[in-house]
Amino acid sequence: MTQQIPLFIDGEFIQSRTDHWIDVTNPATNAVIARVPEATDAEMQQAIASAADAFKIWREVPVSERARLMLRYQALLKEHHDELAEILSQETGKTFEDAKGDVWRGIEVVEHAANIPSLMMGETVENVGREIDTYSYIQPLGVCAGITPFNFPAMIPLWMFPMAIACGNTFILKPSEQDPLTPTRLAELFAQAGAPKGVLQVVHGTKPQVDVLLSDPRIKAVSFVGSVPVGRYIYETGTRHMKRVQSFAGAKNHMVILPDADKQQVVNALVGASVGAAGQRCMAISVAVFVGEAQQWIPEVKAALAKVRPGAWNDSAASYGPLISPQAKARVESLIARGVEEGAELLLDGRDCRVEGFPDGNWVGPTLFAGVTPDMDIYREEIFGPVLSCMTVDSLTDAITLVNDSPYGNGTSLFTSSGGAARRYQHEIEVGQVGINIPIPVPLPFFSFTGWKGSFYGDQHAYGKQAVRFYTETKTITARWFSSDATAEANFSIQLR
Ligand code: NAD
Repeated sequence: MTQQIPLFIDGEFIQSRTDHWIDVTNPATNAVIARVPEATDAEMQQAIASAADAFKIWREVPVSERARLMLRYQALLKEHHDELAEILSQETGKTFEDAKGDVWRGIEVVEHAANIPSLMMGETVENVGREIDTYSYIQPLGVCAGITPFNFPAMIPLWMFPMAIACGNTFILKPSEQDPLTPTRLAELFAQAGAPKGVLQVVHGTKPQVDVLLSDPRIKAVSFVGSVPVGRYIYETGTRHMKRVQSFAGAKNHMVILPDADKQQVVNALVGASVGAAGQRCMAISVAVFVGEAQQWIPEVKAALAKVRPGAWNDSAASYGPLISPQAKARVESLIARGVEEGAELLLDGRDCRVEGFPDGNWVGPTLFAGVTPDMDIYREEIFGPVLSCMTVDSLTDAITLVNDSPYGNGTSLFTSSGGAARRYQHEIEVGQVGINIPIPVPLPFFSFTGWKGSFYGDQHAYGKQAVRFYTETKTITARWFSSDATAEANFSIQLR
């Protein structure tokens, strides 16, 4: 019988009573590997009530004990690293190496969450008035919720619940219905690490379940990662219900190449960053902007991309896996056709890609366009497939204008050997994460993941100090302790004396 994914409610892994089940497939074969429930309303209410009850106890647990839970969790995640990566590969199609990276980048956030005592330090000033001190405490918000996308089923849930829970909150995770096995295993390991009952709940479903999380007044903050239309909906709906919301959305990331860059580094970076993970990364490079004579390197990019091939997760010669679903493959292929109609030059065509032994997989081969212009749909739309669009401009100034005119602002990179050009680019570019000779500049968790413009709605970003601000309130206390010789006198002004 096909495995049925459980809900994790009130510390128990339970089977849903729903009549609505969604198939989870292996993208390399499209075989059904599990079924995931759409939680009933009663189950959603049970999860929220349990998280609200657990918060009353968890908020009183000393910060050092909360940190120790993260240390135990980090050790368990490391122990189960390869097992998690294998589960992740089965349901996403990612190569084993890439799946290990997905898990590892999540483990790094858990390591950061273990630093919570120093991250939650407030501020103090003595003698703000005569014998009066002011100090602030950082306190948790309550029940928080997270809604995650398919493309990083380990890393992105781990961006959210470890930081929120380390801050003293309880958390309800609604993972992507396309790959729920990895998040379920993450929850089992969290329970095994000693997480008290109700501190983390995992519910499954789609829009109706998300709508419950967005509207229930017991939920104080919502973190979302996913596509632009859903991201906008989450931000608008959550804030209308007076919640704190951070919403990370889609992207279109440009790599700008100056003629003084190291050509081989440029070619290597473009190949890995454009088709790695089948282009299903929010920080993938989907546009290469060649400045002036650098455009002469396009044939070398083509030659390098032509050698790349997708394959099954355990094929060590494969550079990337299949797309997540037949729908995703059909969408990418239709955008490639659209690019041809729009007049872009198709240098490599990844349609009709076949992988021996896997006739039913969602394969798309490396695809390269040249002559792409800003008015084309293949430039404006997030393709989310192994497709690289090449554009040419005359100067660094033109490149900066092009990138700044894009509605997205997740990531960008500049390849150059000029410090002056790099400094100008990093200063003037309106994008939240900039790589200098680094194609995918995803910050480590002691910084924050800082997308801008249409790639992010909200103000406090994921992990780092900003996550602590997002998941907490600041309480500021002004205190005076009377000495025995204090003079009693009424004060009618607002001045502290
Ligand atoms: P998606 O928006 O389809 O789904 C994301 C989550 O939202 C899932 O849990 C899904 O069940 C839920 N959802 C879907 N439709 C909904 C609706 N109408 N109402 C409420 N909830 C809904 O995204 P996806 O296809 O899973 O993920 C890929 C997208 O995520 C890409 O656009 C990618 O750029 C983006 N992404 C962004 C970042 C970032 O940090 N900016 C990181 C990873 C992925």
